[in-house]
Amino acid sequence: MSRLVKKEILVTPKGTRDLFSDELFIRKKIHEKCREIAEYYGFQEIQTPHFEHSEIFEASLGAASDIVEKQMYTFRTRGGDQLTLRPEGTVPIVRAYFEDGMLSWPQPVMLYYVGSFFRHESPQKGRFREFGQFGLEILGEDLAVAEATIIRIFSLILKELGLEAALELNTIGDKECRPAYRKDLIAYYRKHVNYLCKDCKRRLKENPLRLLDCKEESCVELKKNAPQMIEYVCDNCKAHFKEVLDFMDAAEIPYSLNPYLVRGLDYYTRTVFEFVIPPKTPEEKRMEIGGGGRYDYLGDLLAGKPLAAVGGAFGVDRLSELLKEKDGFAEGKRPKVFLIQLGEVAKKKSLCLIEEFRKAKIPLAQSLSKDSLRGQLRLASKLEVDFSLILGQKEAMDGTIIIREMDSGVQEIIPFPKVIDRIKTKAKN
Ligand code: AMP
Repeated sequence: MSRLVKKEILVTPKGTRDLFSDELFIRKKIHEKCREIAEYYGFQEIQTPHFEHSEIFEASLGAASDIVEKQMYTFRTRGGDQLTLRPEGTVPIVRAYFEDGMLSWPQPVMLYYVGSFFRHESPQKGRFREFGQFGLEILGEDLAVAEATIIRIFSLILKELGLEAALELNTIGDKECRPAYRKDLIAYYRKHVNYLCKDCKRRLKENPLRLLDCKEESCVELKKNAPQMIEYVCDNCKAHFKEVLDFMDAAEIPYSLNPYLVRGLDYYTRTVFEFVIPPKTPEEKRMEIGGGGRYDYLGDLLAGKPLAAVGGAFGVDRLSELLKEKDGFAEGKRPKVFLIQLGEVAKKKSLCLIEEFRKAKIPLAQSLSKDSLRGQLRLASKLEVDFSLILGQKEAMDGTIIIREMDSGVQEIIPFPKVIDRIKTKAKN
């Protein structure tokens, strides 16, 4: 048969990749930990479609946001609908909140999600076009305890995964206080307009807060002397932010204030936060691994109804990257025992033995398709198991089995029905 697909096409599209082996194992562990803690704290899972009507993102993320400007995968369907692969999780969830009648549930509604998101970005370390996020949303709650709960859960997840990140917090005010800040920010940047990058020149007109988010060197430099929101916040916003900080102190969550943290999207109000890995060298950039904030106006923007809410998301690819660098994290998946079988009778007996081990929740590796002792022992060494079980012709007839300690080569013969107990005892020592 001749090849139908060109060689160049036989690869994943740019910014995407296959997930398997250790990488997939680590992701599953991250998901497990996130789910376990979120569910304990009363969050329930929601799964929304991978695509939505484009307009809901365009209307709510802000026309001047990077996502709407250049990162959305938007397409027209055969039926003529204009759809977009979800670039983030909050907007679909607020859409679901109204569409699925969650407004009439006991408030607040606490939801979590795990899944893929899509942004047309330049791929680099920790940045993909299809990437994973784990997110939390608390909808229908205006108290600072909502921010505190989400940040607390995020910091617990990091701690239990054995990761350390710095938490940065800021308040970006509300409709009352932000206009005066906006005005002064525009005045400041107008004075220095020649030093702004091309994107920021345009942002200055459309969404000046976004200038604080720019990663271009000249804009980062200018930001250092820009007015700070914290000096403009009204009493209500100030009191709310103080409460958030009090919760952080009470839960002993270390944080630092970053007066220029605004996050890229229009829908945030009041509290914004980010978990970052600070750069280790001057050349390195800080890596954001997660973030979020309060978005009290998004409900109004989308559905014309007020909705106080807070949310945040972790980037699963970035957590996974960090865990991969940690020695031994993928170790847990490695079976400690390998079953070697020799001869027809032993092979048949092996199927039952594997099931006994599965029921006892002891990971057991095997290769039933192999026949030779050498081949199976080689595989056992490659997998770096602690023990091999050898079930030969003789043992299968006698009702025994050999346990071989792989490091020392020491072997013992034990009655077949005792093998699980013996392995459990040996594994403990
Ligand atoms: P955002 O929705 O932009 O606030 O992103 C939340 C988190 O998702 C970030 O802190 C990153 O860890 C992760 N993230 C965002 N964009 C990407 C991407 N293109 N590739 C991988 N991770 C991403």
